[in-house]
Amino acid sequence: MPNSNDIMMSESQDLIENYLSVDNVSIGFEEREILSNITFQLKRGDIGCLLGPSGCGKTTLLRSIAGFESVDDGMIKLNNKALSHQGYLLAAEQRNIGMVFQDYALFSHLNVIDNITFGLHRFSKAQAKTRANDLIARIGLVGKELAMPHELSGGEQQRVALARALAPEPQLLLLDEPFSNLDVELRETLSRDVRDIIKQSNTTALMVTHDQNEAFVMADNIGVIQSGKLAQWGSAYTIYHEPINAFVADFVGQGVFLEGNMRSASEVETTLGCFEREISSTEQDSLESGDKVKVLIRPDDIIHDDDSELTARVITRDFRGAEFLYTLALANGEELLVMVPSHHNHAINELIGIRLEIDHVVVFK
Ligand code: ATP
Repeated sequence: MPNSNDIMMSESQDLIENYLSVDNVSIGFEEREILSNITFQLKRGDIGCLLGPSGCGKTTLLRSIAGFESVDDGMIKLNNKALSHQGYLLAAEQRNIGMVFQDYALFSHLNVIDNITFGLHRFSKAQAKTRANDLIARIGLVGKELAMPHELSGGEQQRVALARALAPEPQLLLLDEPFSNLDVELRETLSRDVRDIIKQSNTTALMVTHDQNEAFVMADNIGVIQSGKLAQWGSAYTIYHEPINAFVADFVGQGVFLEGNMRSASEVETTLGCFEREISSTEQDSLESGDKVKVLIRPDDIIHDDDSELTARVITRDFRGAEFLYTLALANGEELLVMVPSHHNHAINELIGIRLEIDHVVVFK
């Protein structure tokens, strides 16, 4: 029999694992269901990311966690306290949740330090200043304490917005497309910095984005939303290498699907040969011999090899600096994508050698 220490340990472990708990949440507007039966948990100190195409419902989900939308069904809990369920909505200002928005939303008439200290009512003036200065150091803006928002770049303004949201030590930080107003290069460096700052402050965070690269850089776990349903929740590695369906495979990362025939539950035949696959525990459709399937081939499954007997014709080539992304056509017309170091400069219509190195064979009915 478990003793009381074991029970207390498992209860506190449960609070860490299920720090933010979204359980079977459904939301609709005017009879139209926008989100249906969304369930996931975020561990204390983790960063989660809701990823999905425009209109899939990710902002609505974030807003419901913030307290700006009520839920029709299900339950949202934070640190074991109910925030929302049917007929109940804890007011946004009582949730102790910080928000970072796409458009920074800084107070234009306040300088950097005053923006950061603005919401710090429960700290003394001196404490608030110390806390703001500490955050200014963490966001790398020492020397700009007195700058006004219009004197800062977009990236700097977003750092200030992050510091302002972290200053009151929120229980949870929500970020709504925080980098989408920034240029591509800055997005990547800033998302790495923002992840470090959030991690250093040991804050639990949930971000919404439609950009998979941002999700990959930022998130411990990613939730892919497909038309109002959570298609998959898992690490970036799992979502990329073991996507649960063709939508997730297509949305997250590049790749193509080849036609395949199952020769048994674990062996699939394609124009490139036969492959053994692992049957995953999360598999939605069981497959059997004779089933027609689609086989996911990512660019990193194909290696360009001049000595290989298997060849494919170059159809398009995108120069990416260090690499070319080639689209190749096989003899039967099926296409592949391959990433090749850019000193391999091949012409359109040229036949180039390739070989396969597939770690995870992913097939869908
Ligand atoms: P985007 O990336 O374009 O912001 P999203 O995935 O965040 O998209 P949501 O903003 O959550 O999507 O919107 C999902 C759907 O819900 C859309 O069809 C939108 O029109 C609808 N919707 C959102 N808010 C409301 C509202 N207050 N009233 C009615 N419909 C709404």
